[in-house]
Amino acid sequence: MKIRFLGTGAADWSPERRDHGDEYRGNASALINDTILIDPGPTVPYALEKFGIAPESIKYIINTHKHKDHFNSDTLTFLESKGARFIEFDDEIILEDVKIKASTGHHRVPTKHYLFDDGESKIYYALDSAWLLYDEVQMIIDTAPVDLIVLDCTVGHQDGDYRIFEHNNINMVIEMKKTLKEHIKRFCISHMSCGLHDDHDIICRDLEPYGIEVAYDGLEISLND
Ligand SMILES: [Zn+2]
Ligand SMILES: [Zn+2]
Repeated sequence: MKIRFLGTGAADWSPERRDHGDEYRGNASALINDTILIDPGPTVPYALEKFGIAPESIKYIINTHKHKDHFNSDTLTFLESKGARFIEFDDEIILEDVKIKASTGHHRVPTKHYLFDDGESKIYYALDSAWLLYDEVQMIIDTAPVDLIVLDCTVGHQDGDYRIFEHNNINMVIEMKKTLKEHIKRFCISHMSCGLHDDHDIICRDLEPYGIEVAYDGLEISLND
């Protein structure tokens, strides 16, 4: 299985910030095996064009939650016009030979996290969230090993920022890595705020000692090779 990140930014990365060049992050969104889109956010059409992905390759669209950086009706209408189907489900579904299991995340509005399992590898996508809820941690332990987890890291190094009650900061991610390293092989962060993070190279430098990877727009991680 592979995951391709179309956007790795929080809601404050508006399209107008594209003058950030290589540092630009679109709103958080990702593709599983180029056919299943997680979150039809407002910057998805731009990302598809930028990374040379035909919108017609997307067969299904699933959504974590309805915050505007993750769900945009114009993007949905555009992708549906290219043949994609928007799917909502509560428990488990199989799409394109990938079993997808939904869990509840800890966020301000109802939010689903997704475990993708193609029989050879497992990816857990946990945006948006502060920490992980006990039930989903238990599910991860029961299904371990999970090959890759994608964790919210909106808040960067900021101390005393109230957003930790619905998003993670870097210390929270490090703590989760320490706690779950026996059960999850690779840890990767996404959903970085424009205003609360340093440049990409500095985030990578800070997290490298902990073995935590930092996603960027266009990054593809292939797990079955
Ligand atoms: Zn978000
Ligand atoms: Zn959100």
